[in-house]
Amino acid sequence: MIAIGKRPAKLGEIPSKMKAVVIRSDHLGPPGESMKVEDVDVPEIGASEVLVLVMAAGVNFNGVWAAQGKPVNIMKYTGYDFHIAGSDASGIVWKIGSEVRNWKVGDEVILHCNQSCGQCAACNGQDPMACEEQKIWGYETNWGSFAQFTKVQAQQLLPKPKHLTWEAAASYGLTYFTAYRMLFTRAKIQPGQWVLVWGAAGGLGAFAVQLCKLAGANAIGVVSSADKMAMVKELGAAGAINRKDFKFPAGIAKTSEEKSAESKAMRAFGGKIREFTGGKDVDVVFEHVGQETFSTSVFCVKKFGKIVICGATSGFELNFDVRYLWMRQKEILGSHFANAYECNQANELIVQRKILPTLDQTFKFEETPLAHQLMMDNKHKGKMAILVQAEKPGLGAQV
Ligand code: NAP
Repeated sequence: MIAIGKRPAKLGEIPSKMKAVVIRSDHLGPPGESMKVEDVDVPEIGASEVLVLVMAAGVNFNGVWAAQGKPVNIMKYTGYDFHIAGSDASGIVWKIGSEVRNWKVGDEVILHCNQSCGQCAACNGQDPMACEEQKIWGYETNWGSFAQFTKVQAQQLLPKPKHLTWEAAASYGLTYFTAYRMLFTRAKIQPGQWVLVWGAAGGLGAFAVQLCKLAGANAIGVVSSADKMAMVKELGAAGAINRKDFKFPAGIAKTSEEKSAESKAMRAFGGKIREFTGGKDVDVVFEHVGQETFSTSVFCVKKFGKIVICGATSGFELNFDVRYLWMRQKEILGSHFANAYECNQANELIVQRKILPTLDQTFKFEETPLAHQLMMDNKHKGKMAILVQAEKPGLGAQV
């Protein structure tokens, strides 16, 4: 076995065992308690797969879900009795399958997290996200990035931006590529439009703010503290709102008092938005919070406006007054990660330094559970990364 933090002397040499952060069905729970470092076998790869030596890994909310077994115990679907989470990584190609072209051992890469069959009509014309076998690597599949080696499909590889450190390169893929599809492919934002971004200093939101700015749209970032307000303004938001200034009731408003409080808070919140827009409602709402914000999102978007949603951190069961949707002819758009083409387009913007990674904190390998616990407790901002085979922060940038 190779030591954590040491780049093996011989390129392509594969030990039989590796260190991995493992989740098991019998100790699901908060990630700080349920994720454990274990020694496991290095996986074998298939003909169209690649084994990557992980230099650094990115922390995402799907690791928080997997650790808790919520909304499902993911091991029921992967067929393994353990799960290695992690859907973002930077690393070095260590072995390629017999059918892999375009990549060779030694290439420095980052990984996108969409897997699909590659053979069906959806994969070959429509969109790999529509493939019946579509899965998120490191969440719906085992062998994610919180390990010394990870096993991926060759189509998941993207060139590592040369100017980035291993940890910065590992930090952005999942959330940035998701935000790119939400705004450009699904909501089709246009220059001059107003976009309300929930969680604007978080993983998705900090990229949504930057992408709006790049597209000539105006983001209004919603956050929960003064330092996050400063952060989103620095990222290019046209406005920032502290959601703590509004008395939104927790959960779904049920009693008439709760409904009236919610209505009052939504109207005050809408008024605050219009201070930035010059009296207009927003064209698009960037949603991923779910239960606690969705009714406000439906209320605040303009007539014929769009709510694009990819997640539900605060709860999957949504409640909203549908009259605001149909009378004002609004649209709700589901969105999920991104296809390889979108990932490549978006990655090029990072290569060109038009979009910046938002890495805020870097952790040691054994601190992977801690980083996920910080995310679960909403005690982070931007992105967090884990050093795996990178010896220390700051390595890997060439230019
Ligand atoms: P994150 O880094 O934790 O950011 C989420 C932000 O949401 C937080 O910074 C927080 O900001 C805000 N928030 C949390 N609770 C809130 C509440 N009750 N009301 C309003 N805002 C709240 O997470 P992320 O990486 O951006 O991911 C967000 C969600 O999207 C997760 O559920 C994740 O699983 C999902 N997701 C889905 C996909 C997909 O492809 N389908 C991809 C990426 C992420 P403030 O406290 O500052 O307001």
